Amino acid sequence: MRYLIFSDIHGNWEALRAVVEAAAGKFDQTVCLGDLVGYGADPNPVVDWARANAGVVVRGNHDRACSGSEDLEWFNPVARAAAEWTQRQLTPNNLIYIQELPKGPIALNGFQVMHGSPLDEDEYMVAVADAGPVFAYLEAPLAFFGHTHLQGGFEYCGNRVRTIARPRARKQDDVPLQLDPDCAYLVNPGSVGQPRDGDPRAAYLLYDSEERYLVFHRVTYDVTAAQAKIVNAGLPDLLAARLAIGR
Ligand code: ZN
Repeated sequence: MRYLIFSDIHGNWEALRAVVEAAAGKFDQTVCLGDLVGYGADPNPVVDWARANAGVVVRGNHDRACSGSEDLEWFNPVARAAAEWTQRQLTPNNLIYIQELPKGPIALNGFQVMHGSPLDEDEYMVAVADAGPVFAYLEAPLAFFGHTHLQGGFEYCGNRVRTIARPRARKQDDVPLQLDPDCAYLVNPGSVGQPRDGDPRAAYLLYDSEERYLVFHRVTYDVTAAQAKIVNAGLPDLLAARLAIGR
């Protein structure tokens, strides 16, 4: 089975469309690791697409925040303004869909999917120190997570945990990873709609479960159009500015 795996779309329709077009014909099922909405100006087109096309979607913290099932008190002012705006925009059916998204981790075909970590959907696994202890709690040798908006992840081999080289550091568009049966992996496809690893291109990955082979991808999209929609919607300008630099 070939999977298109992505995360953190954040209401960015231009970025999602570019990913789906770039991956067309190369996958059998899609898996989304959460945060369909929040920050971007197109929550309804993104949720409409997910309802019609996505195989498995786990909820993210912004999905909870934007559907009213979360106290926004501890969200920063920018995220909070975006969450309140998004909640007002969502159609009734899309709001229900977001509210009913399942919590990860979910077990699929020999791998698990989650938003943050298997222990806490809101945990940020940024460094080896965050990810190392988590390997003990995985129920499969492979797990996909999002939430940090950083493409890459971690591998556990020979009793050592290492960072999977950040694809952007290799200055390539497509970075393959052949999974070793003696190792375990926590893999992050990066963010479709708001990358934060210094590369503004939309991030995703393709995984072939029979070959145990995955490829990290980046694709350019119409950042200017996504920015204009954010500004015109009256959302904080900061949310438009950061798309251009991928931070
Ligand atoms: Zn996110």
